[in-house]
Amino acid sequence: MGSRQVTAWHGKNITVAGLGVSGISAARALAGLGALVTVVDGGDSEGHRTRAAELEAAGISVRLGDAQTLPEGTGLVVTSPGWKPDSPLFAAAAAAGVDVVGDVEIAWLLREVAEDLRAARSGEPRREPAPWLAITGTNGKTTTTQMLASILKAAGLRTAAVGNIGTPIIDVVLGEEQYDVLAVELSSYQLHWAPSVRPHSAAVLNLAPDHLDWHGSMEAYAADKGRIYEGNTVACVYNAADRATEDLVVEADVEEGCRAIGFTLGAPGPSMFGVVDGILVDRAFVANRQKNAQELAEVADVNPPAPHNIANALAAAALARAFGVEPRAVRDGLRDFRPDAHRVSHVDEVGGVTYVDDSKATNTHAAEASLAAFEPVVWIAGGLAKGATFDELVQKAGKRLRGAVLIGADRALIAEALARHAPEVPVVDLARTDTGAMLAAVREAARLAEPGDTVLLAPACASMDMFANYGKRGDAFADAVRELAAERA
Ligand code: ADP
Repeated sequence: MGSRQVTAWHGKNITVAGLGVSGISAARALAGLGALVTVVDGGDSEGHRTRAAELEAAGISVRLGDAQTLPEGTGLVVTSPGWKPDSPLFAAAAAAGVDVVGDVEIAWLLREVAEDLRAARSGEPRREPAPWLAITGTNGKTTTTQMLASILKAAGLRTAAVGNIGTPIIDVVLGEEQYDVLAVELSSYQLHWAPSVRPHSAAVLNLAPDHLDWHGSMEAYAADKGRIYEGNTVACVYNAADRATEDLVVEADVEEGCRAIGFTLGAPGPSMFGVVDGILVDRAFVANRQKNAQELAEVADVNPPAPHNIANALAAAALARAFGVEPRAVRDGLRDFRPDAHRVSHVDEVGGVTYVDDSKATNTHAAEASLAAFEPVVWIAGGLAKGATFDELVQKAGKRLRGAVLIGADRALIAEALARHAPEVPVVDLARTDTGAMLAAVREAARLAEPGDTVLLAPACASMDMFANYGKRGDAFADAVRELAAERA
């Protein structure tokens, strides 16, 4: 049974693009199945050479310093997520009639082989591969995927949060552990390169312009996100407040009987999840949905109970219920869930003012969501704008602002938007990018804030102009708040 599938990879000539985490995982897995693997990467640093030597010791060829030409005889290209679709290597592959796929596609294609191998190893009966419950969206993917995994665990299912998070998905599929179901976070890049993936059920949380330099246009970005609904069997979960997500469901080619399930922060209609009197309710997977609704959890069970995060919880609940999870496990899983750091994290209270770190709000859509959760709020923002404009964000959030403190390379763009749409809001423009700048920003914010206010770091920008990454930016904020507290103590 299994040998035929395993032999499909045997002797196959595969080029892996990119010597990063996912490329290494793909190369090792495919070589392990007998494929002839060459990894190509444009870099040629010491780090590259160390990694190359490790792969070469495992019988994998590595070509450094040339990311452009297709190695002779290539039958399939496996790309890493960061590589742009217009990379010369892919043009060469197209010219040679060679398919290009990503690591998620490989993981999907290896599911059956993985079960054959597992059964052969253990001597136990072969099982069906774990179905995938998949999540994408411009913002909230990681949080929602982790919430879903927490709910599935609370239901006693063996599961893991995988995909665009943590362990490479190929390693999870081929690994020792047997799962009942996987919670899979998929980025638009991964979906672009994963034509065969057919989740059990899937959710698109929201759609706002992001990564357009990679996809080429908003239409192309949306189309890649929409791929997640292809072939769904039970539920396509969409955001009722974001029409574009619903349009993607309408356009998708799903299995007969698959349902469109909406989520809303308001009262849900039939076939929807929503909120009634502070209770998260399911009006989709219940008997007689015209009349009935099933209570799932309280808003207070969601960590943190900010509106955008309640939306994430509803999407996670919808996917879990589509998989047949009991209402009590939804509640327990949400209660058990702890968000990753720097995502609307409460840092401290100093002088009656609450300090919140949402350094992960690296685009305007995310910053808009977290600003909507606080009022009045002193906003710390700025960094690398990545081509974004801030007018819409300031128009929506301006009324809530007690003040704004701007840092980083592109702060003038935000200052201009504030001057245009919220001229009454006091703005401190910190023309500093040194390491002490965050402490200065926090001090300025503290000066603007009044007791009861929130000081929110939600930069709406990437961090790399001043910090190694968004995590370091959030850490600098927390350190500055601690210093402020010590000064005031
Ligand atoms: P992703 O994995 O898509 O980057 P995360 O779960 O890591 O998403 O959250 C990133 C940031 O996006 C959060 O810090 C918050 O500012 C914002 N965010 C989270 N969920 C949502 C949502 N549903 N809508 C809008 N913004 C959100």
